[in-house]
Amino acid sequence: MIDEFVRVPRVAYFSMEIALRNEIPTYSGGLGVLAGDTVRSAADLELPFVAVSLVSRAGYFRQEIDSQGRQVERLDPWTPERWASPLEAMVAVTIEGRPVWVSGWLYLLEGYRSGKQPVILLDTDLDHNRSDDREITHYLYGGDATYRLKQEIVLGIGGMRILQALGFRVLHHHMNEGHSALLGLELLRRYAYASEDLRPGESSYDIPRVRELCSFTTHTPVEAGHDKFPYDLVQKVLGAFVELPTLKSLAGEEALNMARLALNLSEYVNGVAKRHAEISGKLFPGYRVHAVTNGVHPFTWTAPSFARLYDAHLLGWAHEPELLVRADRIPDGEIWMAHAEAKQALIERVRAASGVELDPELPLVGFARRMTAYKRPDLLFSDVERLRAIAREHPFQLVLAGKAHPRDEGGKRLIEFLHARMRELADVLPIAYLPNYDMSTALAMVAGVDVWLNTPLRPLEASGTSGMKAAFNGVPSLSVLDGWWIEGCLEGVNGWAVGNASDAANGSDALHLYDKLQQTVLPLYRDDRPAWIAVMKGAICKSASFFNSHRMMRRYVTEAYIR
Ligand SMILES: *Cc1c(COP(=O)(O)O)cnc(C)c1O
Repeated sequence: MIDEFVRVPRVAYFSMEIALRNEIPTYSGGLGVLAGDTVRSAADLELPFVAVSLVSRAGYFRQEIDSQGRQVERLDPWTPERWASPLEAMVAVTIEGRPVWVSGWLYLLEGYRSGKQPVILLDTDLDHNRSDDREITHYLYGGDATYRLKQEIVLGIGGMRILQALGFRVLHHHMNEGHSALLGLELLRRYAYASEDLRPGESSYDIPRVRELCSFTTHTPVEAGHDKFPYDLVQKVLGAFVELPTLKSLAGEEALNMARLALNLSEYVNGVAKRHAEISGKLFPGYRVHAVTNGVHPFTWTAPSFARLYDAHLLGWAHEPELLVRADRIPDGEIWMAHAEAKQALIERVRAASGVELDPELPLVGFARRMTAYKRPDLLFSDVERLRAIAREHPFQLVLAGKAHPRDEGGKRLIEFLHARMRELADVLPIAYLPNYDMSTALAMVAGVDVWLNTPLRPLEASGTSGMKAAFNGVPSLSVLDGWWIEGCLEGVNGWAVGNASDAANGSDALHLYDKLQQTVLPLYRDDRPAWIAVMKGAICKSASFFNSHRMMRRYVTEAYIR
């Protein structure tokens, strides 16, 4: 099966997590969904691509919420046999001085129409390996620094070797975040000069050649968010893969910083929105950081009712989402009907999952993302009395979702906090919390709500993508000006801003949010349906037509892969 893919040289895309489909829990959040959308667009556009990730057999975790509103984490294992075929190749990487064997699975990612892409899911759970090595590819973002480093050796070095063993010719390597940066070291070794050519003191590595072959996309606007490994750990686990002085010059003197390694071994580096590229440029002085603003995959993130509508009015939209700029010509009634269908589906899902009865006539505000402090899911609840007053004046409803990383105690407390507010406000503001936020819940929510809320702490939302998904379903955003929304927001046209774009405004966001809800968003929904539908159309025309992963892919091809 691999033969049909190795005939042409391909771009190899490396990502620690990837959201292939709802049944395959090899992702934790936005980074994985973006990786999936990237490969889905590559499939639709029939680009020569191959993705490499870990099989994460034990999944991320399945979230339940107990009666106290606390997150309960269950294992979420999946069976690769069911969805993918075993690779007929096995390679070894050296970990702690012993060989660890790496094989894996071929998952075929199909485009919405005809294209397909190979996805290699690396697996060390092989008889040849001792038991702890068999677990290296089990837990996504599990374990300690040693475990993580082992995973990154398998991803970067094992991934490169398996591509080679399978016969892939790689045109270009794209590192989605720094986790896979060790692939650059494998390339350095592959293209090392023969030692007799060297004069004393000359580096034996062809760094410019490796840089030409690599691109790096950073997703993290804070230094603390990048993986760093102490060199004594690196020596112990990875050994002297390249000499320490060379490694330190590439990856940092104090510790092996994966982002720095990726930066130094990539000719093309980008952030995931314009603001994020600026921030990253400051974080890494001396590097040129381009901006390729993220996008979402058109077909995946469009509910069936809207896909039918676009098929009827804008045929070809899923291949060429630019066509959505003409969505303003679709009759209002049809937009409203398509939305009503998606809203009804969400209301039924909420009823089944939580017992909460939502009213299709009342505005429904949605908020769902990873539950972690900087996303500020509690911002809307910072003044419960004000919120209560707003809900009395303009009745509305809320639907929430999100997982906290099992070791993010702050994130877990936020989930409890939200459940406490749900109980406290139950008499005036119906609120539902959908457990186990995943791709399927995300689509149901972004399509079924009337407004998509986002209130991150500036400038920490590198891009954000769920608001783009909402736009494909005619759902306007109400969001803090950070990440993509700085570029996307046209006030009152495709959604609304909360506060202004300066980082100093974080403290007054709650006030601005209440004012905007009370004075603008909720009254418009209740009093002026045609004006409301105009904003829905604005979301499609101005946001979805641009913030999609087809545009993003075309830019990566022309600016990063082919230069
Ligand atoms: C889209 C998506 C995300 C990322 O959403 P953000 O707005 O970037 O936080 C996270 N999890 C799931 C399941 C998603 O579908």
